[in-house]
Amino acid sequence: MTENIDTTRVTAPRRPTRRVNVGDMTVGDGAPVRVQSMTTTRTGDYDATIDQIRELATAGAEIVRVTVNDNAAADALPRLVAESNVPLVADIHFQHTLALKSLVAGVAKLRINPGNIGSRDKVREVARAAQDHNVPIRIGVNKGSLHKRYDAQAAKDPAGAMVQSALDELEVLAAVDFHDVIVSLKSSEPMEVIEACRRFAEISDVPQHLGVTEAGTLQAGISRSVAAMSVLLGEGIGDTIRISLAADPVEEVVAAFHMLQALGLREGFARVVACPTCGRVEVDVVELARKVEALAKDLPPDRVISVMGCIVNGPGEAKAADLGIAAGKTKVAIYRKGELHRNIDKADLDTVLMEEIELLR
Ligand code: SF4
Repeated sequence: MTENIDTTRVTAPRRPTRRVNVGDMTVGDGAPVRVQSMTTTRTGDYDATIDQIRELATAGAEIVRVTVNDNAAADALPRLVAESNVPLVADIHFQHTLALKSLVAGVAKLRINPGNIGSRDKVREVARAAQDHNVPIRIGVNKGSLHKRYDAQAAKDPAGAMVQSALDELEVLAAVDFHDVIVSLKSSEPMEVIEACRRFAEISDVPQHLGVTEAGTLQAGISRSVAAMSVLLGEGIGDTIRISLAADPVEEVVAAFHMLQALGLREGFARVVACPTCGRVEVDVVELARKVEALAKDLPPDRVISVMGCIVNGPGEAKAADLGIAAGKTKVAIYRKGELHRNIDKADLDTVLMEEIELLR
């Protein structure tokens, strides 16, 4: 809860960055930190890909990236763009011709990897085409795929090599008067991400897309991503984020909103506070908290519900919550705004939960 806390003492003001429009979504220039994710389907499989795009959008993704790694993917793009309810970004490696095809298909942004897109002439050709289509480009630097010209620097100063790669690519684009750019500086090492993004923010007003690559499976991935991003966001750095997980991409979106909400940067979901449980516990708190989260998913984001495994902390926690649930041996105490409202039989809990949560809408 942040209402009694001066958040300016906790997080620095957002750094000023230039505005970039990704379709109808503004990134940078004080816009809310945008949440992105990426599909895991074969983009050429239209049905599977559009289903996943819609799932991600429903979960709250504001921008969705799809890989465009072959002609089948590029051929599916016009329909995907037409049917998607969020702006789509084409992720391009190696073949600049697929970037050109993606632009014709109507994507809202391109992501190119300067380490593997090839000659600078190709980058310039893509930039000119992007300019014609009024589409921004993300320069997506990955430490793992830096161009070999940065090898020596990367061995001594990985963050410096990542920043240098981004600056060099920005220069190539600036030479053809292309400035509609976003930069990401990713590594699988959170500390390198923090260092690179900090250094870049000191010298450039280009909006930053934050991310830790190959962060890992659900728990490790969320922890490593949040470790890097919360430091940077707390310093006012970062305009759009992706939490990359080896998991269902919907989890990336949910985790991103929880993090941004915890930092006071976005409104996310109604908050479900659950006790960690101990030997006193009288109910399966994990299952109950999950049930409550599912029921509370569409509530206004300022609502707070507390789930307590016994009556010890029930009254105290319930004071700070709109709805409090504290389990006893056979009964469950239901609090509304700190006041004991009902004492119900455990057997009736599911029905009562639905009624009580409905009243919070
Ligand atoms: S609320 Fe009860 S069950 Fe939960 S941690 Fe506290 S004492 Fe243990």
